[in-house]
Amino acid sequence: MRGTMMHRPLAISEIIEYAAEVHPTGELVSVRTEGDIHRQTYKATLGRVSQLAHAVKAMGVGVGDRVATLAWNGYRHFELYYAISGIGAVCHTINPRLSAEQFIYIVSHAADTIIFVDTTFLPLVAKLRDHLPADLKVVVMTDEAHAPDTSIVYDLYEPLLAGKDERFPWPELPEDTAAGLCYTSGTTGDPKGALYSHRSSVLHALFVSISIPNSLHERSRILPVVPLFHVNAWGLPYAAPMTGASLIFPGAALDGSSLFDLMDTEGVTAAWGVPTVWLGLQGEMAKRGRMPAAFKDLVVGGSAAPRPLIEAFEKMGAEVCHAWGMTEMSPVGTHGNLSRTMDDAPFDERIDAKAKQGRRMFGCDLKIVDEDGERLPHDGTSVGELFVRGNAVISGYFNNDEASAAAFDGDNWFGTGDVATIDEEGFLTITDRAKDLIKSGGEWISSLDLESVAMAHPKVANCAVIAIPHSKWDERPLLVVMPSADGAPDKDELKDMIAAKFAKWQVPDDVAFVDALPLTATGKVSKRTLRAQFADFRMPDDQAA
Ligand code: AMP
Repeated sequence: MRGTMMHRPLAISEIIEYAAEVHPTGELVSVRTEGDIHRQTYKATLGRVSQLAHAVKAMGVGVGDRVATLAWNGYRHFELYYAISGIGAVCHTINPRLSAEQFIYIVSHAADTIIFVDTTFLPLVAKLRDHLPADLKVVVMTDEAHAPDTSIVYDLYEPLLAGKDERFPWPELPEDTAAGLCYTSGTTGDPKGALYSHRSSVLHALFVSISIPNSLHERSRILPVVPLFHVNAWGLPYAAPMTGASLIFPGAALDGSSLFDLMDTEGVTAAWGVPTVWLGLQGEMAKRGRMPAAFKDLVVGGSAAPRPLIEAFEKMGAEVCHAWGMTEMSPVGTHGNLSRTMDDAPFDERIDAKAKQGRRMFGCDLKIVDEDGERLPHDGTSVGELFVRGNAVISGYFNNDEASAAAFDGDNWFGTGDVATIDEEGFLTITDRAKDLIKSGGEWISSLDLESVAMAHPKVANCAVIAIPHSKWDERPLLVVMPSADGAPDKDELKDMIAAKFAKWQVPDDVAFVDALPLTATGKVSKRTLRAQFADFRMPDDQAA
């Protein structure tokens, strides 16, 4: 028997309509690329989102079309999220830190029709214009006063909106209509697309709101340092207006001193981002001997938050919530709020617990399995590969059957590539990574891709790239080379070879030489043994080393 309740499809447009009506004075504050600070209420935002929806539709965008963004965190980027998905199209956020090759690949794989670009990233698009589809329209996210002088521009953002109606009759879409697209490079091979729906985005925002309530409420002013181009800034563009929280977008200046000043003057209560940025803020807090005036809550994730970082923030009086997730999970899977049983635990024990990756949020199931795929107990000691399923987890990659087939087990759980334990109270601890990748400052570097370039050097007989822990970047790549009979290659020559194909930050910091690389039974390089061999190795620039 079916229930007799109304079936109202979940829709992203409902969120901004709701915020404009119920939280009309909630604010978006943005440090603009133009150099000033801009403020806008949720009520005004709905008007501009509606104007933009009219404009994008008039440019010929229809249901299911992909529209790309290449931009910092700011109100215009936020408006694009709502206008594009509101008309039934797909907002494809592109990570500007990808290599040129990956950037070209994903624009063509997604078949983007328009790309909205911040002035900062226009030179990047101009440089690659000839490799991008000829009919891709480039819209620059600025006004006429800041119009760039380049022939690749189709239009500017502000003139597009001017004079359009401030109401838009949002179409009623099936709730599984695609709304957002984000490619992850956290896998081997080409980047793969996670295609979010209205349903998954709204549910994810609800799950995050009940899981991280310290940040998500009407009186909260949240600083999303996590980028809008990185998995929906962890759901904040949806969860914040849903709960009435204001968003303070920092723009491009993410150093400790700029963040501190912005947080201080804007009364930021909560800040979300990867560990690397919080190290900068921590240094600034230590220098000034205080926290930003209204600051209370730090949400950290994307990479393992180092225990000393958590400890330092908690000692200054902030509450740290350590979360774990993935692009394929919309992305939040766990939250690091401590359980009630820890209320009276000593400080050190509480910090130990916060260094774990937290408990699953509602709507996201976790399991760990052994090598045969058998479930392991949640006893805090059994170590297995982590699989997930849930309402906001992908069921396949966008237009990529091969990658999709490899990503799930026989029961359709998604394999995360992380290795973990789960204890009796549900606390997850990530202990290792099965995927052959390095995460530096929250961004991925593929060891396999680096190795294939280094192998082309005539003096490299064999090589492997491994992650070395780093106090600022979490991990940095080390290239380990077994030289050929002709002798060792020159370190700088190797690095230059790699730099020609990769973004600068992806180039290994150092090269080490070995007589032989450890091999597995099947003749592959054993990264596990190699990592153990280099356990004490630290990069020359690592301050903590
Ligand atoms: P991405 O899809 O780029 O967000 O990367 C997701 C991956 O980042 C996960 O599978 C983990 O390997 C890693 N990751 C994310 N959050 C954490 C965390 N809190 N601790 C350890 N690793 C994390």
